[in-house]
Amino acid sequence: MSSDTFFGPDFDALQAQDPDIAAVLLSELERQRHGLQLIASENFTSPAVLTALGSTLSNKYAEGYPGKRYYGGCEEVDKAELIGIERAKALFGAEHANLQPHSGASANIAVYQAFTKPGDTVLAMSLPHGGHLTHGSKVNFSGKWFNIVSYGVRADNELIDYDELRDLALENAPRMICTGATAYPSLIDFERVRAICDEVGAIMWVDAAHFIGLVAGKAIPSPVPYADVVSFTTHKVLRGPRGGMIVSKAEHAAAIDKAVFPGMQGGPIMSAVAAKAIALKECATPEYQEYAKNVISNCQVLASGLEEHGMRAVSGGTQTHLALIDIRSTGISGKIADERCGLSGITLNKNAIPYDPESPAVTSGIRVGSAATTTQGMGAPEMVQIASLIARAIKDGGEPAKAAEIRSDVYELTARFPVYPR
Ligand SMILES: *Cc1c(COP(=O)(O)O)cnc(C)c1O
Repeated sequence: MSSDTFFGPDFDALQAQDPDIAAVLLSELERQRHGLQLIASENFTSPAVLTALGSTLSNKYAEGYPGKRYYGGCEEVDKAELIGIERAKALFGAEHANLQPHSGASANIAVYQAFTKPGDTVLAMSLPHGGHLTHGSKVNFSGKWFNIVSYGVRADNELIDYDELRDLALENAPRMICTGATAYPSLIDFERVRAICDEVGAIMWVDAAHFIGLVAGKAIPSPVPYADVVSFTTHKVLRGPRGGMIVSKAEHAAAIDKAVFPGMQGGPIMSAVAAKAIALKECATPEYQEYAKNVISNCQVLASGLEEHGMRAVSGGTQTHLALIDIRSTGISGKIADERCGLSGITLNKNAIPYDPESPAVTSGIRVGSAATTTQGMGAPEMVQIASLIARAIKDGGEPAKAAEIRSDVYELTARFPVYPR
């Protein structure tokens, strides 16, 4: 196994010390470079972010918050966290920011803890209609510890049914209402949700994990002026390190900080906190704003490209970075489509469509996202080509010879848009 000049000189030492894991790092880099990465929650973070993640900040224990730590020697990491907090507040126009949650799910645990007690009623989007595990799945803490009432999308237009949401809120008097999802291609009417929250006296929580990067890039409206609290991941469209973050109104600052530490976590991962600060600076640039716009237009071209191949975009298309595609017209299930695409070098996921007649393990749909390919520099012509590669893979990717042909076309396409160049 040869080295790769993308990695620094330390990599040669790793290779000598632990060739098994060094080989994984190399082959995963190759996989990311030469496959099509269409998973809507993934992206290619910058070398600057990767540098901070691989730094000695990883060694530092820093339980607490800047200036109020439980350990000595935090002067340097304090600077990184304070810079990050200021950048988050400025970027989102938020009164408070907490950069410590280890992940999106951790951020959500903190939100529940800051605003609710076990047994409280929380209104959240139904999982089969696009909600997240932490929005009340029976196998998740949220579904076990809270009385979750779910709202969904309308059968006719596949958009959130705000009338149903309001009726359920009036009926159940929830302590908190959550909007935000993992597989919802449209925008959310935050003003409408705020009005419902005010009517029933509920906390307005927006789980913006998926789309916060589009908000950061000013490509879609922000939930921050409306919501009491907004939780999100930093590694999806936002393009930062794997992790979570919470922004809120000032009045909730103490409750949120206490819920994150000591309520839920011990020491923050300071290398990740510094990497989040770097990503936030990147997001404040005109280049990133251009990127966010392109992510949406690319996804729209990709969705209509798939429609031209006979598939159907749920809710008529997309206003974001992701599209949900009903592939029943192909006669192939989401599960088989996912497998065939995988064999053809196209990474995406099977996904239930609203009112899916198939089980969650099989599904009638796929979910595609444009965040990673747009980071690579791909544009509309490539999205048209990707739609045709997906259509070919779904139809023929079960045959090894055909899958190899598609894989070689994928290789040629990705070679023109190198990520992490040598
Ligand atoms: C991705 C996602 C999460 C969870 O993020 P992790 O970092 O995987 O824990 C939570 N909520 C929503 C809506 C998401 O899309």
